[in-house]
Amino acid sequence: MTGPPLPAHTAFISVGSNLGDKLACCQHGIAQVAELPRTRLLAQSLFYRTAPVDYLDQDWFVNAAIKVATGLEPKELLAALQAIQRRAGRTADSDQIRFGPRTLDLDIIFYDDCISDEPELTLPHPRMHKRRFVLQPLCDIDPKALHPVLRLPVDRLLAELDATDQDIVPL
Ligand code: ADP
Ligand code: MG
Repeated sequence: MTGPPLPAHTAFISVGSNLGDKLACCQHGIAQVAELPRTRLLAQSLFYRTAPVDYLDQDWFVNAAIKVATGLEPKELLAALQAIQRRAGRTADSDQIRFGPRTLDLDIIFYDDCISDEPELTLPHPRMHKRRFVLQPLCDIDPKALHPVLRLPVDRLLAELDATDQDIVPL
């Protein structure tokens, strides 16, 4: 049996929460991404309990990653993810601290092999290669996904990351 053709683009999205029922926030967020128009969920990583990085004075996170096929263009996808974040209770007010607590964070890590330097949408995500909480879940779903600027697969980026301080444990 053949289904409808897959949407044309592939995106990897990192999912995180460290406020409220973190696992439920992530699961609900993923379910809503899967229901976006012209979008299909292709793969989902394990969920991890991870230590905060950058801004350390906050609770641990739940993190995961998903791979989707989508017909949404990069900025349409970003706007859709931001709407899902807002519905999860994330407001400008709760966003005062950069890298601080949030009920739901949805970041586009890769969108095909697009490269962009715009602050509104930087692709690939500019800090992904320094973060175990991004790289480990990506390795679960597609270890050979290639970083289009560094020209290395995500399993190599993870192996080369010196981040023993970044605790990450499967839930
Ligand atoms: P972070 O996820 O880095 O902790 P935020 O979720 O608060 O920070 O995002 C801040 C801004 O980052 C957003 O307004 C968004 O426009 C911008 N941004 C730039 N590149 C990306 C990307 N690849 N994915 C998601 N947001 C991005
Ligand atoms: Mg974000």
